[in-house]
Amino acid sequence: MDRIVFLGTAGGRASVFRFLRRSGGFLLYLSGSLVHVDPGPGAFVYLHQIGVDPRSIDLVVLSHIHLDHSSDVNAVIESATDGGKARGVALFAPRSAFEGSARVVLPFIRERLAKEGFLEEGSELSYRSVRVKAVMKHTHHGAETYALLFNDRVLYVSCALYEDRMLKMYPENVDLMVINTTLYRKTKPIDHLTVKDAEKLISELKPKRVVLTHFGYEFLQNHDPRLVAEELSLRYGVWVISAEDFMEVPL
Ligand SMILES: [Zn+2]
Ligand SMILES: [Zn+2]
Repeated sequence: MDRIVFLGTAGGRASVFRFLRRSGGFLLYLSGSLVHVDPGPGAFVYLHQIGVDPRSIDLVVLSHIHLDHSSDVNAVIESATDGGKARGVALFAPRSAFEGSARVVLPFIRERLAKEGFLEEGSELSYRSVRVKAVMKHTHHGAETYALLFNDRVLYVSCALYEDRMLKMYPENVDLMVINTTLYRKTKPIDHLTVKDAEKLISELKPKRVVLTHFGYEFLQNHDPRLVAEELSLRYGVWVISAEDFMEVPL
């Protein structure tokens, strides 16, 4: 059954590294393949805790190289390939994950991959039953970051500064939109999405369902994401929920 499973729902440095919630990204089960998106801190452990054998992972995808999205990429690939014995795992990520001084994928781990793909705005990569389109390059603190569309069904709005260009570049009416809503509101000029930004995406692009996730420190300390989601649901007549750690949603 196609579904999404959230390993962790914390976002941004303070929330992740002070451990307000778990992190570790999410799993997508799509047409018989298993994709692990943004395996941040703890991902490897949480996979085992929820009873997922990492060797069942087909594809790992990084939206960008910030540590809260990528820190466990090597451990996850190492376990997914059974220590290099199985050669059936692919990795799609920005070029900056593989090359340059800030790369996060270790050279010997790269050699274990069945396929590597560099995300680029507008291009689509595929592996087994999964197609990943980098629908837009985001502005996000100078890191090469992409919004990702999986099998034309699931749009992952990764971390970003809101831009009106999103309304043109993102598809309408997707089955599920996952929005990294790190901020409740903007109190300083940082490149993350707020509730207001999420609201704009929902009202303009009319996804069938929405999950808010990747909550920052201030959001979690002072607000209740469940109430925010409920309010958006009522206002726009769209199914909106806030993600919880280890939550599973059928697609
Ligand atoms: Zn992030
Ligand atoms: Zn980031």
